[in-house]
Amino acid sequence: MKIADIKSLSREELAATLAQWNEPGYRTGQILRWLYAGRVSAWDAMSNLPQALRQRLAAEYSLHALELVRMQGARDTTRKFLWRLRDHSLIESVLIPANPALYGDPSDRQTLCVSTQVGCAYGCRFCASGLAGFKRNLTPDEIVEQVLAVERWHDKEGAADVRPDAAAPDRSEAPDTDSAPPAGHPRGRLISNLVVMGMGEPLANYDHLMKALRLLNAAWGGGIGARKITISTSGLAPEIRRLADEPLQLRLALSLHAGSDEVRNRLMPVNRKYPLKEVIGACDYYQERKGRLITFEYILIAGINDTLPEARRVAVLARRLHAKINLIPYNPVEGLDWKRPAETAQEAFLAELTRLGVAATLRREKGGDIDAACGQLRLRTERELKQAGRSAE
Ligand code: SAH
Ligand code: SF4
Repeated sequence: MKIADIKSLSREELAATLAQWNEPGYRTGQILRWLYAGRVSAWDAMSNLPQALRQRLAAEYSLHALELVRMQGARDTTRKFLWRLRDHSLIESVLIPANPALYGDPSDRQTLCVSTQVGCAYGCRFCASGLAGFKRNLTPDEIVEQVLAVERWHDKEGAADVRPDAAAPDRSEAPDTDSAPPAGHPRGRLISNLVVMGMGEPLANYDHLMKALRLLNAAWGGGIGARKITISTSGLAPEIRRLADEPLQLRLALSLHAGSDEVRNRLMPVNRKYPLKEVIGACDYYQERKGRLITFEYILIAGINDTLPEARRVAVLARRLHAKINLIPYNPVEGLDWKRPAETAQEAFLAELTRLGVAATLRREKGGDIDAACGQLRLRTERELKQAGRSAE
């Protein structure tokens, strides 16, 4: 039987297990501090736990750390990490520095974009993640590990050129102080904002995602504020409603990409299942429950969704939801024919939205030179690996 990873357990689950093992209550806090503040990747590093307990933990749970396969840095210091999982699948995370007001609050802190699935089943026509199809959901620990592994990398290698935000509270100050913090404890946190916008459709892996986000949000865990977490979805209407009923005040980004069903159907097969009326209805509900926490993502694709009439239809939806719009010039994907519009067309689209009273920004691509759009590094690496395999035959 496959054993669960310890970083997939909630605090309550860990406490219940330890109680069953007749361990004193303070062990829960000790272990959590090793995992989330110490970011350790070996049981033996948990030096204040008795040897017998370490052995029992090792027998019952895995303690897996993501393996870094490749790291690309862009000129603007956006970093893209390609990780190998236990089953050798590849996933990506992107570290985006100083990203003023991209999602929600103005912020100059480090944002991490995480993946939630290996591949994606939704097959949007423009997207690299959809190209190779769907392989599997990530487990909660694989989502959580993306944050910890980047911070581990930063502790070791990146400290010279990626600066943690000085104002961010030190994660080592976990609230429960029932024992001294582990020695050799790394220095505070790097990541203060999370965007769930990497490979995969997050709301199609709902339970694992929510479990991971609760761990990343907890003060003793990732310590990332709920309002600093943005989930991007292609528009799974029932799950948007479910998310609206969660206690966490998470931000939602809807990948809109069109103001009409006609155009959206051409780009996103999911729109046939949940057409705009349903998706926007679900967003109305989210808005009612959560307030102004919705953003629209809008990739501009030449000759497809970049016309002014489309901008006017988008403006109607945005005003209805008080949503801000992030316009993103399409990032070309090898093997796909879509193109980004000329800058004049991008600016005209932006100007039309602004004229209609909608808050919109045009992203002047960060990380464009490192295949930062979702799934692109993995796709390229897999192609290269395949080619290497072929030429070795
Ligand atoms: N599945 C979710 C989250 C992952 S995709 C979703 O679709 O929202 C994250 C964002 O990247 C989406 O807005 C998606 O439309 C966008 N994206 C995908 N391929 C892109 C490309 N080639 N260029 C620019 N953005 C892209
Ligand atoms: Fe999946 Fe999002 Fe890519 Fe669409 S854009 S294929 S939903 S990852």
